[in-house]
Amino acid sequence: MLIGAHVSTAGGLLNAVQRGTEKGCEAIQIFNQSPRAWKPTAYTEEDFAAFKEAMADSKIQSVVIHMIYLINPAGSDRTLRRKSLASLTHAMRVGDAIDAAGVVIHPGALKGGEREPAKKRSAQMIADALSDSERCPALLENTAGNEALLGRDFAELGDLIDLAGGGARLGLCIDTCHLHASGYDVRSKAGVEALVDEMAADVGVNRLSYLHVNDSRDACGSNRDRHANIGEGEIGKGGFRAFLSEPRLQGTPAVLETPGPDGQGSDRAEVSLARRLWREGLRSRKQGASRK
Ligand SMILES: [Zn+2]
Repeated sequence: MLIGAHVSTAGGLLNAVQRGTEKGCEAIQIFNQSPRAWKPTAYTEEDFAAFKEAMADSKIQSVVIHMIYLINPAGSDRTLRRKSLASLTHAMRVGDAIDAAGVVIHPGALKGGEREPAKKRSAQMIADALSDSERCPALLENTAGNEALLGRDFAELGDLIDLAGGGARLGLCIDTCHLHASGYDVRSKAGVEALVDEMAADVGVNRLSYLHVNDSRDACGSNRDRHANIGEGEIGKGGFRAFLSEPRLQGTPAVLETPGPDGQGSDRAEVSLARRLWREGLRSRKQGASRK
């Protein structure tokens, strides 16, 4: 399993590779532009080439883009939809240019509207962004289970993927904090097995493309999305040993999006802790199997 973290691109795309390397990442997640402004960053072909060259020279084997939070694929306001689609399409094209594993997408907020029409709008925007880009996958992320957001369980994520056309470029990114907050048991082997079974039935394990590995400040089923540092929240070290060692998750890259020791994001020690918990989980499963 490739393990890494979300890293900043402040100062240019290339800096993300440097930061990822400093943190000991094998996978990184980036924003393709400032997450608080609509204005897209105008990267050049040289920027993309330099990024890919630096990636090839580093230990980082996978990069995924996270969409900016201003985008609401489910929204009904025309102006906001136009801006959202332009921004999402831009993210997908940057993904094409840097060979990203995908763009992680939040399916969207209802903003007081009805669920079914919102699902159709969200799926339509994702389908439009796919058709205006070449190759980069669209990875739908599960939420913490809040009723006002789309993507609260695997059944709904499966519906959204079907509504968006069900093509091969549609995938899934699952977040441990969000799973825990929405009521899934990510802390025991049996719980993780059950949730992966549900994912297999509703979406298909083959669509799983990325993992967000975050501890949760709140209790299981709280529907609150507050990330905690690995091992310092409700999921805990034992929970990550169980989750990260689940056999059907082994080919999937994982990135941390935690506050980090000083609120500046996950650091090298935390990335290495996640990797250690993954290895310990694998070892304990092997020992369990050999005792049978
Ligand atoms: Zn996200």
